[in-house]
Amino acid sequence: MSDKLLSVDEALTHLLDGARPIADRETLDADDTLDRILATPQVAGVNVPPHDNSAMDGYALRVADWAEGRWLPVAQRIPAGQIGQPLAAGTAARIFTGAPIPEGADTVVIQEDCDARENEVLPTRPPKPGDNIRRAGEDIAVGQTVLRPGQRLTPARLGVAASVGATTLTVFRRLKVAVFFTGDELVMPGQPLPPGRIYNSNRATLIGLLRGLGCAVLDLGQVPDRLDATRLTLERASREADVVVTSGGVSVGEEDHVKAAVETLGSIHLWKVAMKPGKPLVFGRVGEADFLGLPGNPVSAFVVFCLFVRPFLVKRMGGEARPPTTFTVPAGFAWSKPGKRREFLRARVEDGRAVLYPSQSSGVLTSAAWADGLVDLEAGITVRDGDPVRYLPLAEMLS
Ligand code: AMP
Ligand code: MG
Repeated sequence: MSDKLLSVDEALTHLLDGARPIADRETLDADDTLDRILATPQVAGVNVPPHDNSAMDGYALRVADWAEGRWLPVAQRIPAGQIGQPLAAGTAARIFTGAPIPEGADTVVIQEDCDARENEVLPTRPPKPGDNIRRAGEDIAVGQTVLRPGQRLTPARLGVAASVGATTLTVFRRLKVAVFFTGDELVMPGQPLPPGRIYNSNRATLIGLLRGLGCAVLDLGQVPDRLDATRLTLERASREADVVVTSGGVSVGEEDHVKAAVETLGSIHLWKVAMKPGKPLVFGRVGEADFLGLPGNPVSAFVVFCLFVRPFLVKRMGGEARPPTTFTVPAGFAWSKPGKRREFLRARVEDGRAVLYPSQSSGVLTSAAWADGLVDLEAGITVRDGDPVRYLPLAEMLS
């Protein structure tokens, strides 16, 4: 364990170095794999599209048969899904979007550029070879790897898998994450709230974040602020899950037993991060399970989850590591604060400028509910209205 103050980037690097991607995989009906992480490459066994086809409703013909004012007989009609006859010289085929181009045709003239009368067509503009033709394999060629291991199966990726005819996909097993919550002040919603107590909000937030990521959550509930109780729950959590995530009890107060419990059962890797909100973060291992101890303050827990726990879990789940998307936006605020901690401020983009929630206190969870993103400010920086600032949209972090 180190008492050194780590930078956000150092802490993240340490954390990701310790994330061992899951190896277990399962093959599922493709329809049941939305948001799962692909474990094997998906290779195309067919061309997409499988054949040259028309991109528009119109007439297929040979460019060589076109002449100003020349009517061509319409020798056949080819709807989508049917193969036409080879195109006789000097004729045109009525053709519809998606229909295979008949042998011999080398262009499609869109119907808006044609005069038509019974069984004859007059293309009014000179066509070029290949006009309005989608080539076989233009999207995907046979043998091409269309999806890579580590990719999350979004709706568009499932569409790509379907376009090459996949019916099953091999994905990594769901990561099992145990959660528990420390704090004798905590009361579950649904119970009366005695004086001096607060409702447990981190449970709802963290379980939502974990489910959004596609983890299987084991909720071990609230644990009293005692070392023996913390140890007992931690032991069970580490036996039953791949990763244990907790909130609270990782500061230096007398009632903070999480750190001690992890130390006696396993090992701890890092401790304090130079960021606000956040700071205390425990990363360790208990038995075969990874341990991530989040701060109790609701906003700190939320931000630390987004910046650290999420990338850790994505890698642990077998997902490809990608740095978070960031934008540079003009500040719609002024900021000046001395200090050694990088700030992650709850913000929104309004009229192209980043605006801040009025209270940036780490206890004010409404700031996180209001925010669309985080403004990321280096420690001790001064920002004037209109200065460019780094903005991290929350959307990708919450799914
Ligand atoms: P701790 O990290 O245990 O010192 O807690 C820091 C602050 O976060 C205290 O004000 C706690 O009451 C609060 N807190 C801890 N856990 C939760 C929770 N599950 N839900 C809401 N607030 C919490
Ligand atoms: Mg506490």
